[in-house]
Amino acid sequence: MIRNDVLLYEGKAKKLFKTDDPKVLRVEYLDQATALNGGRKDIVEGKASLNNQITSLIFKQIKQNGIQNHFIRKISKHEQLVEMLEIIPLEVVIRNVSAGSFANRLAILEGKILDYPVLEFYYKDDHLDDPLINDDHVKIMNIATEQEITFIKHEAHRINKVLIELFSEVGIRLIDFKIEFGRRADGTIILADEITPDTCRLWDDKTKDHLDKDVYRRKLGDMIPVYQEVLIRLEKVFN
Ligand code: ADP
Ligand code: UDP
Repeated sequence: MIRNDVLLYEGKAKKLFKTDDPKVLRVEYLDQATALNGGRKDIVEGKASLNNQITSLIFKQIKQNGIQNHFIRKISKHEQLVEMLEIIPLEVVIRNVSAGSFANRLAILEGKILDYPVLEFYYKDDHLDDPLINDDHVKIMNIATEQEITFIKHEAHRINKVLIELFSEVGIRLIDFKIEFGRRADGTIILADEITPDTCRLWDDKTKDHLDKDVYRRKLGDMIPVYQEVLIRLEKVFN
């Protein structure tokens, strides 16, 4: 099908297009992997379709568990329609197990189970390299109000509980993940962006194998079979 939708934004993993409906965006996933804030970039054939399928399944599933989100429907292997939102420029990270930048910065051994989920905010700004910030920074920079921060934190913890359960049903431990939120015109805030092995750390429950983007970041092997494994497991239980 030939479409003439206006390109709104081209990111590292997706392109956003306007549609005939001003409230709806078309998201096209890209066969591209990046690390080091875009410093390393590779074409990875098949990744777009896998991530689109994985995030579509997860967003559909978590909606059934009461988590409002932007997902409308998948329209092709690598495209989906979503509700257009004003994205809040925060990467909201929740950690259940020490890993990645948390393990490095605080010298807490990777793999240590945390006594409770740790929530972090990073300011979404490529020029600043997405710095770690706190609630006062969020407020002083007018990124979100106190009330919105409270809502975002509460919602992120709720999402964590639902995702832990969802992944545990397919033999995967949710180590950590990043989510984004956006505002509707009426000011309500809902979950946006994507939930995929690009944005989560997922370890096989038994073998502790990495089933996520760390295989690319750490050059542990091919991403495609690993992302395929995540999709196959999820589809077996949830489709
Ligand atoms: P990046 O911007 O980090 O390179 P992507 O390639 O994933 O990442 O780009 C997708 C962009 O789309 C992100 O900036 C994200 O905040 C934005 N986005 C996600 N969902 C929505 C939505 N529902 N409405 C508007 N923008 C969105
Ligand atoms: N993450 C992400 N986008 C980013 C940074 C992090 O999706 O720009 C995810 C990452 O996949 C992991 C979690 O957020 O699941 C925590 O990442 P961390 O801070 O450990 O950074 P990393 O070491 O991955 O750069």
